[in-house]
Amino acid sequence: MSRLSIISLFALVVLQACSTQSSESIRSVHTQTNSVMIPKDSLPQSDSAWQEVLSDEEFRVLRLKGTERPYTGQYDQFWDSGTYVCKACGSALFTSTTKFDAGCGWPSFYKSIDKSKVIEKLDKSHGMIRTEVLCAHCGGHLGHVFNDGPEPTGMRYCINSVSLGFVKQDTSAKP
Ligand SMILES: [Zn+2]
Repeated sequence: MSRLSIISLFALVVLQACSTQSSESIRSVHTQTNSVMIPKDSLPQSDSAWQEVLSDEEFRVLRLKGTERPYTGQYDQFWDSGTYVCKACGSALFTSTTKFDAGCGWPSFYKSIDKSKVIEKLDKSHGMIRTEVLCAHCGGHLGHVFNDGPEPTGMRYCINSVSLGFVKQDTSAKP
């Protein structure tokens, strides 16, 4: 074996080790739902790469802008205290303190954690004029926002459970 082919073989092994590690860390966001946000330059860059780290339903909603069936999502009727993060990238999006029961079949919030965390975009699909809500960090589709929510904002962020992960509030830490 020439020196060059030994070097390229070594490079290939290192490269594979790196890519395995990065898809493992991305997968851990999905399986463990921790508060670790995936850095922007480590996010999957193609649909096929996203398909490797998301379940079929997560991929359909987050990347293909699908909608989960109402009243079926994990967080529709879920009232624990904590932070809702993007299922695709781990970015913190909503808190339980702004969650309310809209009766619409999807988890609803009257505001996001911070305006910079979500992108609101005009959506004219399916013959309706709506405002789509996307994760500002990874571009994942979260749901839609409507202006029929409760005070203090009057807004209703209607979000697919499948687009969210949940990080329970740590009640053991006393100030
Ligand atoms: Zn995201």
